[in-house]
Amino acid sequence: MNNSKIWLSSPHMGGSEQKFVSEAFDTNWVAPLGPNVNGLEKDLENYLGNECHVGALSSGTAAIHLGLILLGVQAGDEVLCQSMTFSASANPILYLGAIPVFVDSEIDTWNLCPLALEEAIVDRIATGKTPKAIIAVHLYGVPYKINEIRTIADKYGIPILEDSAEALGSSYKGQRCGTFGDVGVLSFNGNKIITTSGGGAIVTSTAAIKDKAVFYATQSRDNAPHYQHSEIGYNYRMSNICAGIGRGQMEVLDDHVGLRRKMNAFYVDLFKDIAAVTVFTAPNDDYFANYWLSAIVIEPNQEGIDREALRLAFEQSNIESRPLWKPMHLQPIFKQYPYYGTKVAETLFEKGLCLPSGSNLTDEERERIKQVVFSFFKTK
Ligand SMILES: *Cc1c(COP(=O)(O)O)cnc(C)c1O
Repeated sequence: MNNSKIWLSSPHMGGSEQKFVSEAFDTNWVAPLGPNVNGLEKDLENYLGNECHVGALSSGTAAIHLGLILLGVQAGDEVLCQSMTFSASANPILYLGAIPVFVDSEIDTWNLCPLALEEAIVDRIATGKTPKAIIAVHLYGVPYKINEIRTIADKYGIPILEDSAEALGSSYKGQRCGTFGDVGVLSFNGNKIITTSGGGAIVTSTAAIKDKAVFYATQSRDNAPHYQHSEIGYNYRMSNICAGIGRGQMEVLDDHVGLRRKMNAFYVDLFKDIAAVTVFTAPNDDYFANYWLSAIVIEPNQEGIDREALRLAFEQSNIESRPLWKPMHLQPIFKQYPYYGTKVAETLFEKGLCLPSGSNLTDEERERIKQVVFSFFKTK
């Protein structure tokens, strides 16, 4: 049997990416602007709906950085951030000299806990400072509690930066993720549901805000014949070559969502008789998840079943799996910052494992995964 590496999530080309890239070469649009950049932005606006405006950028991290700037975050400000996430959600807070305040997850969606969020806001206000923004994440493509988080944000007048890096193709009550925040963020890194080989986008509610983001992303050039600058600029625009890959990928996005959801259903079926394992699924039909990554929670027992033992069993068969995101409040770089909540995120981290979830996995690869699971749980 073929023993080649099975990845958690790898790039999956659709077929027409090279056509768009060739066009860029043929017309010499080899620059961080051009028809593919405009085309990808249009494709995304049509896909996301809700009259949004999209600016294509060099990464999701860049989009979060510019998003925080657009929301007015400055040095010394406090920014509330979901603790259980990838570090890219939180690092841009530090780029700005602002202070992250981390918040626990709830158990239904693994995202921002409304109770802990409100507790944090009330406490920060009591100490004299109203937080400047809330960074809410749709972890593994499962939407956060949209209504609850929005209600709290509005009650205290704090804008939401919606980190939808993992959730392109997900929706809540029929509305696409990426369009719920005051600013939204997408990522097209190599491991995401679609890729531009590296890239991201900012999603805004008006053309004016999008234009401002693009202005910052292209060195903040004032309107003058010479290079004139009155604000700090960044080099964050997406290249026309990368955008060409993105245009091809947009043609297969819905297929990819369907295939990732099929992987999730495969795991639900695979673990249905294994009591120690729960597959992470959306709480109800209002939530439509792209299941960018499928994840499970493993209850450890005396017989040697636990998260790490299963991870090692996969590794032995050359299959990649990975613990869930380690919460930011437990990370060395962030440990001095405030945290609100209990141990929900921490417990998920201890027991949770992400499994191969790519849209390009084959029947043979699913069979290899199955064999590891069967022999692991039989011998324990
Ligand atoms: C991937 C990711 C990002 C960062 O996106 P890049 O394009 O890799 O910079 C941000 N937040 C989350 C939750 C992510 O998964």
